[in-house]
Amino acid sequence: MRWRGVIEQYREYLSVTDKTPVITLNEGNTPFVLCNNLARAINPEIELYLKFEGSNPTGSFKDRGMTMAISKAVEAGSNAVICASTGNTSASAAAYGARAGIKVFVIIPEGKIAMGKLAQAMIHQAVVIQVQGNFDEALTIVKSISGEYPVTMVNSINPYRLEGQMSGAFEVCDQINGYPDYHFLPVGNAGNITAYWMGYKEFYKRGKITGLPKMMGFQAAGAAPIVLGHVVEKPSTIATAIRIGNPASWKSAVVAASESKGEINMVTDEEILEAYKMLASNEGIFCEAASAASVAGVIKKNKEGLFTKGDKVVCTLTGHGLKDTEMAINLSQKPVTVKAEKGEVLRVLGY
Ligand SMILES: *Cc1c(COP(=O)(O)O)cnc(C)c1O
Repeated sequence: MRWRGVIEQYREYLSVTDKTPVITLNEGNTPFVLCNNLARAINPEIELYLKFEGSNPTGSFKDRGMTMAISKAVEAGSNAVICASTGNTSASAAAYGARAGIKVFVIIPEGKIAMGKLAQAMIHQAVVIQVQGNFDEALTIVKSISGEYPVTMVNSINPYRLEGQMSGAFEVCDQINGYPDYHFLPVGNAGNITAYWMGYKEFYKRGKITGLPKMMGFQAAGAAPIVLGHVVEKPSTIATAIRIGNPASWKSAVVAASESKGEINMVTDEEILEAYKMLASNEGIFCEAASAASVAGVIKKNKEGLFTKGDKVVCTLTGHGLKDTEMAINLSQKPVTVKAEKGEVLRVLGY
């Protein structure tokens, strides 16, 4: 079967009609990987799966929501979209906007987004504006502009974004042939945890699954407003994709955690980086630092004794490691340089 993107695959669950122009890059259908090496290192008694969203067309889960947001914007006659972004939303909006042939404006915090993401927005010809402030300030400006001018906002407050992102949960159910016991994911603006929970509940309502996972959301300790119970004015973390101090979907994320008997918790940058390196070295999976917050959450909760034998645990890895090569290079051993001679190479190889 040829995969035609999340709208065609899950059309019956989405607000689309025969008249909706489907703007797709065939997003979704991402790898669902059983990770025995990682499970052995963390807790051999759990079944650990990773949903690798870095395999989406622009390298993050944002594409699942963007195909819906852009398709619906075009259907409504819009010829321009705008978003605030920590990077991946702008990359996705720029790509889908290019495909739709509409204008894309992206507002990003200056100096706080990974180079790969900036490159994506630029090559797809978005108008990129860096503000001397943080994501939360950028979002406030975007909300205000989209309310006053004929330009559609495609941040996750746009309801079609969350609808499209439900497809992540649908795929997990289809791929695991049921539902997991726990679903871990990083939390930034909190749209994705909200969407996954909507998705699981939708499948449950339609009798496609017989139970529901506990939703386990993880913020970075320096940007953990939901955990702390108050807005963080100056959020700080190496995981720039979740460097958000006032999440737009705050309330619905809290609901997702409490309804599912899960939780919103936090992990330190050190814990995030440890998980990031473990994923790459033990499983061959190169994700973004922010994505690794989910696995860092599993490690943390395992130490607290959360799991029982046979638990099925799913982590969403939200974005691709190639977005930020500087991060990977800084955390790794440097290449060795030698003369172009076999003996020199052998000496380094230890033979
Ligand atoms: C957007 C993003 C997040 C945060 O998702 P929210 O829906 O804002 O909580 C996490 N990781 C990556 C890589 C992202 O791009």
